Amino acid sequence: MNHTISTDSYHACSLCPRGCSADRYKATGFCGCGPVLKAARAALHFWEEPVLSGPEYEPGGSGTVFFSGCTLRCAFCQNFELSEEGHGKEISSGQLADIFLRLEAQGAHNINLVTATHYLPSILPALDQVRHRLTIPIVYNCGGYERVSTVMALKDYVDIWLPDFKYFDNQLALRYSRAGDYFETAAAAISQMIGQTGAPVFETVAPDSGSPYRLMKKGVIIRHLVLPSHKDDSIRLLHWIKEHFPEGQYLLSLLSQYTPCFHSSQYPELNRRITTYEYNQVVDAAISLGLTQGFMQEKSSAKEEYTPPFNLEGLE
Ligand code: SF4
Repeated sequence: MNHTISTDSYHACSLCPRGCSADRYKATGFCGCGPVLKAARAALHFWEEPVLSGPEYEPGGSGTVFFSGCTLRCAFCQNFELSEEGHGKEISSGQLADIFLRLEAQGAHNINLVTATHYLPSILPALDQVRHRLTIPIVYNCGGYERVSTVMALKDYVDIWLPDFKYFDNQLALRYSRAGDYFETAAAAISQMIGQTGAPVFETVAPDSGSPYRLMKKGVIIRHLVLPSHKDDSIRLLHWIKEHFPEGQYLLSLLSQYTPCFHSSQYPELNRRITTYEYNQVVDAAISLGLTQGFMQEKSSAKEEYTPPFNLEGLE
């Protein structure tokens, strides 16, 4: 074991920027999680970016493990059963290691850790057990709200970073995620991620049937979900990204799939899908800035099936 994050971290937890100092053996912090790993689904997932999930005509998909709890708990979270309600099943690090191997055997193109930070002391031992056997990359799928020190500690574990960059205006971050320091925290974390991986690396796969396709092996994909009523914040964020992150060193993934759910009804401005006009304004801004390396979701993608059933599949 050669990482600096251990289960001692659960005693006075500062794994994420909340820095609750909770002794998670006795009480929970903002994420609502104790010291025992909990997950709600471990299965192949086909709705990530195509360089992660592969094309529709090929078996494979991303080997996602959805962990319970969250350090952001956004008001509009589509996975609210996990982030807010803590739904899931307790598993050991050894069981998680077996799950990683099983996902690879099922044909996963990668192991995709979804919202993992609050359980890192339990996840890293699982990776230590199997990473010499895994031949597929590890994806770290997170809300962008990370400590730089945590990103650094994961240098030898994570091949592909998949952070959200949710807000430019910290007032929005405060209102919807109770994180008034979100912007500068995420900016520093993502900058570190880019520095650690360097430019994206791909592998071309040429199946006997179907066309060749590319899978990502290393790099950073910055995700941004366009929120209803807040296209101007999205556009300001794109300008900042263009000015501050080195060109060619990351991919941008613009998402239009916002669907009102959970607490959205408490925020009238969020209680609807985005309009075509709003989304096109953001897409046009990205194009005019030259931010075209990456993915722009079709506006018609606002479908609930992007959220899989959290039925404990793959955790037996
Ligand atoms: S991981 Fe949870 S308990 Fe630890 S600092 Fe973050 S929110 Fe608090």
